[in-house]
Amino acid sequence: MKIIMLGAPGAGKGTQAERIAEKYQIPHISTGDIFRANLKAGTELGKKAKEYMDQGLLVPDSLTVDLVMDRIAKEDCKNGYILDGFPRTIPQAESLKEALSARGEALDYAIDVNVPDENIITRMSGRRACPNCGSTYHIVYAAPSKENVCDKCETALILRDDDKPETVQKRLSVYHEQTQPLIEYYASAGILRTVDGTRDMNQVFEDITDILGA
Ligand code: ADP
Ligand code: ADP
Ligand code: ZN
Repeated sequence: MKIIMLGAPGAGKGTQAERIAEKYQIPHISTGDIFRANLKAGTELGKKAKEYMDQGLLVPDSLTVDLVMDRIAKEDCKNGYILDGFPRTIPQAESLKEALSARGEALDYAIDVNVPDENIITRMSGRRACPNCGSTYHIVYAAPSKENVCDKCETALILRDDDKPETVQKRLSVYHEQTQPLIEYYASAGILRTVDGTRDMNQVFEDITDILGA
C-alpha cells in the first residue's frame, strides 16, 4: 500500500502516519524528520535545509525530490510506505508520479487530514518534540507520562523553533499557496480521501482505517 498524507502543518499527519505504519507494517517516511536528522548530524543538506525551515519556507524541490526517490527505492519499501510531508508542491507530486510509473506503480491513497487554520495555531503551540528520537507529543491532547520528558527515550522535550506562532503563520500561508493545490490534483487522480482532523486522534485513526480497510 502506497499512501501519502496531506494537510496543513499541525493537522496530525505525523501522528496518524505513525499509527498507520505500525498497523500496516510499512515504513513511515517523513521529509521533515529526514531534514531534522540531517541537521542534527551536521550534514551539508541539514545546513541548507535549516535556512528555509527556520523561515517557515519550503526546502527547494532540488534538495528534496532525489532524497525521497532514493528512500522509496529501498528494499523495505517494496510492500509500500506512507509518505508524510511529501509531496508538498505540484512539481514534487509530478516527480513522484513519474518515478512510480517508470516502475509500473502508482499511489493508492492521498489522505487529507482537514483542520481549519484557526485550530492550527493553538495546536502547534502545544506540540512538543523529542530532539533525540523525533517522537511528538501535545501538552493537552497527547501528554507524555512524565511532564516534558519523552516516554520512549527519556530526553527533555522541546518546542520546535518553527512551531512558534510567527513561523506557524508563515508556514500556513506557504501551505495554502504551494501545498493545498495538491488536494485538487489528487482529487482529479481519483485517490483523494478526506478525514476530519478536528476529531479526537483515535477517531481520526478509525476514519482512516475505514478507508484503508483491515
Ligand atoms: P509539519 O508537518 O509540522 O508541517 P514537517 O516536519 O513536515 O512539519 O516539516 C518541517 C519543515 O521541513 C517544513 O516547514 C519545510 O521547511 C521542510 N519540509 C518538509 N518536507 C518538505 C517537502 N516535501 N518539501 C519542502 N520542504 C519540506
Ligand atoms: P503534522 O505532522 O501534520 O504537522 P502532528 O501529528 O505533529 O502534525 O500533530 C500536531 C500536534 O497536534 C501534535 O502536538 C499532536 O500531538 C497534536 N495532535 C495530532 N492529532 C490531534 C488530534 N486529532 N487532536 C488534538 N491534537 C492532535
Ligand atoms: Zn525520545
